[in-house]
Order: sequence, then C-alpha cells, then structure tokens
Amino acid sequence: MTQPYDVAIVGAGPAGSTVAKVVSEQGFQTVVIDRRSTVGLPVQCGELIPTSSEVRNLFPRSKRMPKVVHVQSEFITNKTHSIRLVSPNGSPYEFPFEANIVNRAKYDQHLANLARDAGAELQLGSTVTERSLNNELSIKSKHEGDTVRARLVVGADGAHSIIARSLGGHFIHSENDLSPSLQYVMDGADVDSSVVEMYFGGRIAPGGYAWVIPKGEDLVNVGFGMRRSIAKDDAPLRTYLDRFVFKTLASSLKGAKILSRVGAIIPVGGPLEKTWSKNVLLIGDAAGHVMASNGGGIPTALCGGMIAGDVILGHLKEETPLSEYEEQWRAEFGLELQTALRVLRVADTVMPSDAITDICMRLAGVRFLEPMIRCRLPLPVDLASKTMVKILNQFI
Ligand SMILES: Cc1cc2nc3c(=O)[nH]c(=O)nc-3n(C[C@H](O)[C@H](O)[C@H](O)COP(=O)(O)OP(=O)(O)OC[C@H]3O[C@@H](n4cnc5c(N)ncnc54)[C@H](O)[C@@H]3O)c2cc1C
Repeated sequence: MTQPYDVAIVGAGPAGSTVAKVVSEQGFQTVVIDRRSTVGLPVQCGELIPTSSEVRNLFPRSKRMPKVVHVQSEFITNKTHSIRLVSPNGSPYEFPFEANIVNRAKYDQHLANLARDAGAELQLGSTVTERSLNNELSIKSKHEGDTVRARLVVGADGAHSIIARSLGGHFIHSENDLSPSLQYVMDGADVDSSVVEMYFGGRIAPGGYAWVIPKGEDLVNVGFGMRRSIAKDDAPLRTYLDRFVFKTLASSLKGAKILSRVGAIIPVGGPLEKTWSKNVLLIGDAAGHVMASNGGGIPTALCGGMIAGDVILGHLKEETPLSEYEEQWRAEFGLELQTALRVLRVADTVMPSDAITDICMRLAGVRFLEPMIRCRLPLPVDLASKTMVKILNQFI
C-alpha cells in the first residue's frame, strides 16, 4: 500500500487552497482533491469581497482577516462604494460600504496555483464519494477505483460536504438553512457601477434577498437566495429570478443579455457546533462559516483556511490538539457569525409579510439596517422585533 499523505484536502475553493498552501510550504505531503476539472469553474458567486478596512469593521477581533482578504488588483474587475437595501415597496436605504468585485474563477485559480507552487498535489476531476474512519477516501474519477489515505483530512467541500457527512448527523446543516440560489451574469445593464443593491420581499426572495452586483464594463451579477421554508409559493427558482430581472428591474436591465446562469446552495444556518474530530477538520462552507445576514463566505473561508493550516502544522510537528482550530476560529470570527445568525432569525420573524417588512425597514432606517448587514444586532432591534411583529400582525 502507498504511503499516506500527511493531509488530504477535499475542495479547491478559497478555503481548501488556503490551507493547502500553508501546510505544503512547510514540506508536508499534501493533496487537494476537487470534482471540478478546472478550478473555479463554473463560477457560483456574486464575486463581492469586502475590502480589508470593511473586513476589519466586520470582524474587529480577527488579526488575520484583513490580511487574507487583500485581493491583488489584477483580479479586481470593479470597486463598489455603497450598499442600497430596497424594501418590498421599493424604498431605498443606502449606506457606504467598500467592496472589491473580483473575477472569482481567476482568483480561485490563483489561490490553487499558490498551493501547487508550494508543493501541494492537485487532483482535479475527482469526486470523493466516501471517507472511512481511518481517513481513506474513495474517489470517483477517470481512473476507476482510486483511493487516497491521509493522516488528516480537511473537508473544504462546501455546503453539501461529504466529509462532514462522514462524521455523522451532528455535522450536517439543517435543510431549512440551506439557501438555494440562482444567478445570471448579464451584459448591457444600465446600473450605477458603484452601488451594490439588495432587494427584499416575499415575491422576490422569500427568506433571503436578491442582489445586483456590478462587475464593471456593463456586466452585472443578478441573483437571489431564498429559503423554501419561508416561501409562500413553490415556484421554481428560475421563475423568481425572471420575475426580478424582467419586472422589478425592467427599466435598468432593458435590452441586457443573459450571458450565463448558475445555481448553488448557501448554508445560512450559522457555524456547525463542532468543526473537528480526531483526524478531520471542516472549513469554509462545510463548517457553516458564512455570514447568515448577507450570505458572504469568502473572507471566513480564507481566514478559517489560514487558521486550520496553522493548527495542522502544530499538530503534525508538536501534536497540538485539533480542537485548537475551533478555539481559534471562534475567537477570531465566531461571535460575528453567531450574531449574523441572530440577525437572520430576527428578519425571519418579519420577512413572511411584505407589509411588515416595509414598516420595520422604515422604522429601523439606515441607522439600524446598516449594522445588521455588518453582522451586528442593535439592542433596540433585538428587543423590539418580536413585540413589534406581534402588534403589527393584529392590524395587517
Ligand atoms: C450564488 C452564490 C453567490 C455568492 N456570492 C458571494 C459573494 O458575493 N461574496 C462572498 O463572500 N460569498 C459569496 N457566496 C458564498 C461563497 O461563494 C462561499 O462562501 C465560498 O465559496 C466558500 O468557499 P469554500 O472554499 O468553503 O467552498 P467552495 O468555494 O464552495 O469550494 C468547494 C469545492 O469543493 C468541491 N467539492 C465539493 N464536493 C466535493 C467532493 N465530494 N469531491 C471533490 N470535490 C468536491 C467543489 O467542486 C468546490 O470546488 C456566494 C455563494 C453562492 C452560491
């Protein structure tokens, strides 16, 4: 039997490539396995990464986060300066927010190349179908019956992580908190290239929101994420998106062409309670490291990957316990992810009614809406929401 790898990483997204680079540059035998034949394609992302200064504001306790989200200019296609929230009746609430819009495919490929240059082996076009208790991975690829063994396995394989599932029921995201999403890339849009828009409403994106993210040069990512448990009708995702594109945005997208369409799942149920076992770590979407209040997961995938890499090095060199990984990510961004989930739960009490959503957004105003997007729950909103919804429900 062949020698086991020190570390096998399933998933070559931002989380997997980051941990692979950290571990392999210290000389540990590392393999990254991804089912895609080309890293980063198809793109399943709005491609928005908050700038380092925004990330410092979002995650004030994290030292690593501002550094890891620094994106080289060659991957940036546009810079946006504000976010405009639009309530179901069309009222806008805008506040400053600096973000880089990136070419996600090139960015992911760059991260994977950094890992490969550091010595990691990349096995693409290879789907992991099973993990055994002693970290043997069964792989479906063009070479039938491949297996890989490793001292440690890292699950960086997204919302439907096969590695998380191999650890048992506690490591699986609740179906209600998996947000199906769909996005068009469109050309010829007449939108303000400095503003990201987020639209709310039961007919637009029940339990979520729809976005317009200008990529630069008249290109836009237009998409939405929703939750079926909150939706009043079971229309297909495409019906929701077409309604948004061709009715809500009819004037700004008149004449714009759909270049491509992608769908994927965003896990918005907050971090898993446990993200490690005796020989496995879960990172990125597989660990639930997504800001539930806005669906963004790239900064936490990068930062969690960095933390996991450092802890794995400590484990392989000095037997540092893997539980250290969880302690560190909770210390750097755990509280913010929990707060973002509380924001979503508050929104869940309001969002089933467009009329209540409109009233609540008007009462909250930019002063309270802005912190909620930034993973903070202003005390008055927390205290008032349930009472207010009860009262409003009697009248509406
Ligand atoms: C439509 C949409 C829009 C989004 N927009 C934004 C945004 O604008 N900004 C933001 O910050 N976040 C956004 N997100 C979230 C963001 O994309 C994720 O949080 C981020 O990609 C997580 O990185 P990751 O490395 O954990 O996982 P991924 O990037 O999802 O990578 C997982 C990798 O694992 C591979 N894989 C999965 N299963 C297997 C298997 N069994 N065997 C082998 N390989 C496997 C996949 O092929 C994939 O390459 C968006 C998500 C969606 C769906």
